[in-house]
Amino acid sequence: MYDLIVVGGGAAGIFAAISAQAAAPEARVLLLEKSAVLLAKVRVSGGGRCNVTHNCFEPRPLTTHYPRGSKELLGPFHRFQPQDTIRWFEARGVKLKVEADGRIFPTTDCSQTIIDCLLQEAKKLGVEIRLRHRIGVLERTENCFALDDLRCKKLLLATGSGADGHQWAEKLGHTIQKPVPSLFTFNVPDSPLKELSGIAVESAELSLGGLTMRGPLLITHFGFSGPAALKLSAWGARVLHEHGYKMELSINWLPDLSVEEIVDSLAALKKRAPQKQLSSENPFGLPKNLWKTLAPLDRLNDISLAQLRNLAQKLHADRYQVDGKTTHKEEFVTCGGVSLKEVDFKTMESKKCPGLYFAGEILDIDGVTGGFNFQNAWTTGFIAGTAAVLTISK
Ligand SMILES: Cc1cc2nc3c(=O)[nH]c(=O)nc-3n(C[C@H](O)[C@H](O)[C@H](O)COP(=O)(O)OP(=O)(O)OC[C@H]3O[C@@H](n4cnc5c(N)ncnc54)[C@H](O)[C@@H]3O)c2cc1C
Repeated sequence: MYDLIVVGGGAAGIFAAISAQAAAPEARVLLLEKSAVLLAKVRVSGGGRCNVTHNCFEPRPLTTHYPRGSKELLGPFHRFQPQDTIRWFEARGVKLKVEADGRIFPTTDCSQTIIDCLLQEAKKLGVEIRLRHRIGVLERTENCFALDDLRCKKLLLATGSGADGHQWAEKLGHTIQKPVPSLFTFNVPDSPLKELSGIAVESAELSLGGLTMRGPLLITHFGFSGPAALKLSAWGARVLHEHGYKMELSINWLPDLSVEEIVDSLAALKKRAPQKQLSSENPFGLPKNLWKTLAPLDRLNDISLAQLRNLAQKLHADRYQVDGKTTHKEEFVTCGGVSLKEVDFKTMESKKCPGLYFAGEILDIDGVTGGFNFQNAWTTGFIAGTAAVLTISK
């Protein structure tokens, strides 16, 4: 009989198994992974560099980066947050660096560094690992869990967004919030801006379905990408899915100015330089080619005040028809999973099935891009792993 079986050898499962074995060295901890490799997503994460966590050390601000799970993660972040992640890896010889946007990577810029560290730690502690092990039948018996011919006192599901874990959780009494993709970019097939692919705007405000997000925006050959678009896709994951990824997107190119302020600036420019072509002036410091596409070619003298007002309104609410999405290669995640109100976030134990624990993306938790999704895996993995062996470690 194992004290704990962890199912799923991703970031959450490995970290949970390590944390359990570290908390209770005498415990029999087994980790089962259905595929031939552990930590497959860590390997490809962050474009192969692994964005381990984010430079945000206050639990409350940290929670604001989670469209789903922010309320529930507040307590857990008081116990294990990015500062702890950094200490954990650095104590095991992994040097980390903070990039300008707050993302944290190994200084090697190579995800293998993180994989090696985790696998060495699991080995050092003596976590038993079985690869290519897929369970057929999972059952709760009176005093243990039966996974085919394996038995364990505690069971920890860390199977990510895959269907197996959701089905087992459902069988053991849980509700599953429907999984749908999060963190993607927007396709705008009819975008007049496509030829400007590669141009970035430092701060734009994007609105869709009653949600508004501000941040850097990247124009691509298929539509829009960049942090503002990714953030909007995360908060709008459900509504976009419901609308078949066909919705109107409104872009405010000058979010720091009101329509009236834009009109006043344009009117002042018209007065100052009536013979100049509006498109060749660039009064708001937008990327030149973007301004040329948005503003009329005419001489300012030939543009009426009403036309300037129309332009100001367009700059404030420029409308595009989103039709489809594209996967963001650097990081994507699934929204949905085990319903959070059915889990005790002090221990990550199920409120429906005693002895059952959850960690990572199997839960209805997801973060925006920037290292927040791995932080969820480390935090919930740590809490679930240590709590699951608590009675043994005492
Ligand atoms: C391309 C890409 C890049 C990313 N980059 C980043 C990044 O840089 N930073 C960041 O914070 N987040 C990133 N993410 C998100 C992050 O990878 C996930 O949030 C995180 O991996 C979730 O960890 P997990 O352990 O919960 O799930 P997973 O990593 O999905 O692991 C689940 C494991 O369970 C196994 N499993 C499933 N079913 C069974 C079963 N029946 N039996 C046994 N094993 C099973 C799977 O094979 C898998 O190994 C990225 C995601 C992708 C796809």
